[in-house]
Amino acid sequence: MGKKAVSTPPDNPAAIQIVELLQRRRLTKNAFEIELTRPPSFEFKAGQTIRFIHESMERYYSLLSTPDDPTLTLCVYYVPQGSFSPVLANAAIGAAFRITGPHGYFTFNPSERTPVFVATGTGIAPFVSMVRCGVADFIILHEVASGEDLYFQDLFRKIASNYTPCLLEPSKADLSPPGSFHGSAAGFIKKNLPPASYDFYLCGEREMTREVTLLADEHFPGSYVFKEVFF
Ligand SMILES: Cc1cc2nc3c(=O)[nH]c(=O)nc-3n(C[C@H](O)[C@H](O)[C@H](O)COP(=O)(O)OP(=O)(O)OC[C@H]3O[C@@H](n4cnc5c(N)ncnc54)[C@H](O)[C@@H]3O)c2cc1C
Repeated sequence: MGKKAVSTPPDNPAAIQIVELLQRRRLTKNAFEIELTRPPSFEFKAGQTIRFIHESMERYYSLLSTPDDPTLTLCVYYVPQGSFSPVLANAAIGAAFRITGPHGYFTFNPSERTPVFVATGTGIAPFVSMVRCGVADFIILHEVASGEDLYFQDLFRKIASNYTPCLLEPSKADLSPPGSFHGSAAGFIKKNLPPASYDFYLCGEREMTREVTLLADEHFPGSYVFKEVFF
């Protein structure tokens, strides 16, 4: 009898698949992008995630790549005291990882309302994939500590109707990113978003998703809220 195939049915998101690290690229002081091999027949939609299974840990990451790309790419925040992000930061090129997926329902639903994408830090990842897939006519707020954390700004400046970096700890150098708001994304929405019904897509820190959901309820009646909480 032949050897039993290691790979499992591709249409089962719970099936374990093996991927290899192809490349790692630093985005900022605290964040990096990694490129992985794409398992055969691994299909996903923009906005979905993969789950790594490593020793006793399970960690989810949103896909930056598009469903048509030959490889899988991720944008990872380096948590210095973290358990798994340092593993991804230090793994040798060619290292193998066990993943499952795709997971999640944070995908784009077109409607007559204007989409407002709100991300904290690496919460920008699903929006990169959506925009690379052709989503247009959206507003996007990227909440980060300072201007040097604004990865993917070229993409969004080109395509978004309104791209606003929301800088929590702006430095002198931050006077230059055009259109920056000094404060949280929720603060920007409260002060500057014109009254209307929107589709809010919120991704990243739980506190931001909580604040923006409250604002949507109080100030933007008829809006819908879609969320992906990272931590
Ligand atoms: C659905 C989902 C999608 C996710 N997608 C991404 C992604 O695309 N990119 C990504 O970097 N992380 C993402 N995460 C978070 C990721 O799964 C890990 O939690 C993260 O990498 C930290 O793991 P760790 O073992 O290094 O840290 P841990 O030892 O688990 O420490 C966790 C602590 O790290 C901090 N932390 C966790 N994630 C982040 C982050 N993204 N930015 C800043 N601080 C963080 C928080 O303080 C958290 O309490 C996602 C989580 C979920 C649930």
